[in-house]
Amino acid sequence: MSPVHATGELLASRKVGAYHHLSVVARGVAEQFRPGTFVAVAVGTPGTSAVLAPRPLWIHRVRPVGGYGLALQLVLDVRGPGTRWLAEQPVGARLALTGPLGRPFALPKEPVACVLVGEGYSAAPLFPLADRLRERGCAVTLLLGAPDEAHLLSALEARRSARAVTVVTRDGSVGQRGEIAGAVAEVLRRAEAAVVYAAGPEPMLHAVAAAAEAHGAWSQCAVEQPLACATGLCHGCPVPVVGEDGVARTVRACVDGPVFRGDRVRWEELGR
Ligand SMILES: Cc1cc2nc3c(=O)[nH]c(=O)nc-3n(C[C@H](O)[C@H](O)[C@H](O)COP(=O)(O)OP(=O)(O)OC[C@H]3O[C@@H](n4cnc5c(N)ncnc54)[C@H](O)[C@@H]3O)c2cc1C
Repeated sequence: MSPVHATGELLASRKVGAYHHLSVVARGVAEQFRPGTFVAVAVGTPGTSAVLAPRPLWIHRVRPVGGYGLALQLVLDVRGPGTRWLAEQPVGARLALTGPLGRPFALPKEPVACVLVGEGYSAAPLFPLADRLRERGCAVTLLLGAPDEAHLLSALEARRSARAVTVVTRDGSVGQRGEIAGAVAEVLRRAEAAVVYAAGPEPMLHAVAAAAEAHGAWSQCAVEQPLACATGLCHGCPVPVVGEDGVARTVRACVDGPVFRGDRVRWEELGR
């Protein structure tokens, strides 16, 4: 994969539940997409001091849009100046972005049982992953969590993407009341999971990686370490890991990740 710098065009922007869904045409980016990769989108007005560091966003989907070729589907959880600026852009706006960036999820060679665990908007890369796994004959189970129904990503679509879906919300507005950490062990057991994929905040990833290890499954976690340059140059997104050789070292989330083996990350030290 070789990331490209592209000027994308915003084709659609709409609010769905608590999130904003964007559809962006960016030549050369969508064509190379693999689940678990992301784009870094420039925000602010070019040429002024309003320009901020590019914001990393998961690629949720790649879909053909009549007359435009492939479009990237992005999901925004508006919570700061960058995501707010993006959510306010009108259809037709030009967006400078780089991608696809990072190492994607690795796919199993055999058709094994896979459990995909995602919280909130971070579940975005798991939907195209589910499609790829199903194409390989894997039995796919989804475990989705959120604080409430509005923050649950694409719950209806989830039912089409997986053989079994478990939903947990903190307020009990949909699915079981509770947290992913409390539900994951039982889901892994029921699915007889061989491989676990997870995307979400660090404490949830830590809990899922531990549950996968206890179950005897292999796990891959998509880590959302805050990024600065997103291209590996600035070393500003350290992730403490244990390498294949058993030696502890620090790697970069943006180019060595964002997907890491769950049993390789030194979770207690991440983000310190
Ligand atoms: C690989 C990757 C993929 C991502 N994909 C998405 C996505 O698809 N949709 C989406 O909405 N966001 C995503 N994020 C997170 C998003 O890029 C950041 O939250 C970004 O800082 C938002 O910019 P902002 O200007 O709106 O808010 P900021 O002002 O930058 O941040 C708002 C608040 O969030 C905190 N914060 C910033 N980054 C993170 C982080 N990574 N983890 C936890 N807290 C953080 C800040 O400390 C601050 O308190 C992703 C991050 C990474 C690393």
